[in-house]
Parts: sequence; structure tokens; C-alpha cells
Amino acid sequence: MSKYYIFCNGRILLKNGGSELPDTESDKELELLFKASGNVDREDPDGDIWAEIDPASELPDKYVLLERRSIWPTFEEKEFFRAGRAFHLMDWQRANRYCGVCGSKTSYDPAEGAMRCPCCGEIYYPVISPAIIVAVEKDGKLLMGHGANFPPGRFSVLAGFVEPGESLEECVRREVYEETKIRVKNIKYFGSQPWPFPRSLMLGFNAEWESGEIEVDGLEVTQASWFAPDEIPDVFRGLSISWKLIENFIKNRS
Ligand SMILES: [Zn+2]
Repeated sequence: MSKYYIFCNGRILLKNGGSELPDTESDKELELLFKASGNVDREDPDGDIWAEIDPASELPDKYVLLERRSIWPTFEEKEFFRAGRAFHLMDWQRANRYCGVCGSKTSYDPAEGAMRCPCCGEIYYPVISPAIIVAVEKDGKLLMGHGANFPPGRFSVLAGFVEPGESLEECVRREVYEETKIRVKNIKYFGSQPWPFPRSLMLGFNAEWESGEIEVDGLEVTQASWFAPDEIPDVFRGLSISWKLIENFIKNRS
């Protein structure tokens, strides 16, 4: 029995009140609604399937569509990220149905795991956008910022996308300086995490304050401060690497 990872406008389709993924044994009828579909693992054509359905589709009562982020508490970490992989593949094929060079219709090449243009030969691999996320410390306190789009009172360690031609360490230095005017040193790799909202790979780092006083850009980050382990404000928890960095700081400095 294989599972279906079915998406509709970015939401995921589940059964049994949102507690379970549909499967190829008892939910075969769903295939009638598929607008596009493919294998989650290209080396396993009989395995799990990703699919996209039309928002206008009429769903039988036993199914629900939920925000992908909201399935964290219900599903194990492994299942959550597997749903992320399925979504990433669906989203990538949807966005690469036509060749960006010559405009012809592309087709999926299972051997290459890529979309290929039959006319000009251009190949489109899944796009993964690297982003850094960094825990900066000074005198036993952690630098955290309030993002312009965060709920009131919510803070996080700083993060940002890697730019063309930039190393990860350069990105850490630039992002922290741009958002808070703080210079950092001793940048050390912490760990990584795929983040399929929609197609990032988060690369976590620890760093130390080198110089500067906090001055926020007022656009991306509207407020920032240094927090001791017992002063940590409202933060995103769950499976996110931002929480792992904060948790690590609390553990090491308490
Ligand atoms: Zn082409």
C-alpha cells in the first residue's frame, strides 16, 4: 500500500478528520480528480504518489484540505518532511511545464529527475533556494528580531536567502548586518533542514557578536534585542530549525 500526497492551492488532502494520508488501496477514487501526478521517489514507480487537484473539484465528505504547516502536531517529523518533498516536486513540475528558453512544452525525464525540453534540450531540475538562519550571541544573550510580518510579540533568530555569488558565511555576515547593523565573527555550522514553504533549504549557524549596536532596518525587521535564556519571548516552536537553535542556546547558557 502506498500513500497519496495530494495538494490543492498549497493545502494537503487528508482523511479521517485530518489524521491520516489517503492511500492507494482505499482511496483510489481520488485519482479521477488528479490534474497532475508523479512518483515521490523516482526509483520506486509503485511507491508513494504526489498529485495536484483542481480547486473546483468536489471532494467526497470523508476528505479535508488542511494548511501544510498545520499538520506538524499530527504527523511525525519524518512524515512532515516527506509531505514537504512531495509538495516541492508537485510545485516544481507545475512551474516548469513550459521551457523558459523556447516556450515549448516540457516533459518529465525520470532517468534525470528533471523536466526536459524536447525542442532545445534545456533541462530544469527542482529549484532549491538556500537560506541561512543564525543564532548570534553576546555575553550569554541571544540576538532575536521581530519580523514585519510576524504576529505581535513574536521573535526569531535572524534569517535570509543566499544571494548569487555569495558564500554561506558571507550571507550570515550580510544578513545580520543588514537587519541589525551588528558585525559577527566565529561563524560555525549548526545543521540544516529542508523548508518546503515553498522551496528552501535552511542552513543553521551559530556566531558571536564582534562589534556594533543594534539598529534595525525597520522594513524586514522592526525590532531586535539581546535575550538571556530566561528572557526568551514568544517564538516559533515545533520542528523548525529556528527553535532548535534557540533550544540549543538555552541548553548551553542556562
Ligand atoms: Zn526549449
